[in-house]
Amino acid sequence: MRCPHCGNSDDKVIDSRTLAAGDAIRRRRECIACGFRFTSYERIEDTRFMVIKRDGRREPFDRDKIERGVRRALEKRPVSQMSIESLINEIEDEAAILGKEDHEISAGVIGDLVLEKLGTLDRVAYIRFASVYRHFDDLEEFVREIQKMENPQTQEKLQT
Ligand SMILES: [Zn+2]
Repeated sequence: MRCPHCGNSDDKVIDSRTLAAGDAIRRRRECIACGFRFTSYERIEDTRFMVIKRDGRREPFDRDKIERGVRRALEKRPVSQMSIESLINEIEDEAAILGKEDHEISAGVIGDLVLEKLGTLDRVAYIRFASVYRHFDDLEEFVREIQKMENPQTQEKLQT
């Protein structure tokens, strides 16, 4: 989105939320070039959509369900409540945009979306979530990943 201050088109979204009426998304943006902050609005015609489960059944999109999964993955992690809240808002917003056209979205797409967002916020939470949604090929691989995240020194010692 073009910066109204300097005209640069690179910006980052610093906050994004669905407005109370549920028909628009308000995004707070910051220009990468000059740091100017501005707001954009994107309209959603219909925010209601269904989630296609792995067995093909449909159920209404449930923000609380995603929130529970995200909070479980982030349990005891050094991440602020505000970061968690805006992460869940982003997931909901992007799922709504992806599901807008067909009024449905597959559970796998939502899972990938959650993973992508968690990956940028906290690596341990990412691994925890991935272990539930994607299943590691073997448990040892999962444990090694967790150890690498929580204690990088262990790995160095093993190598020497
Ligand atoms: Zn600018």
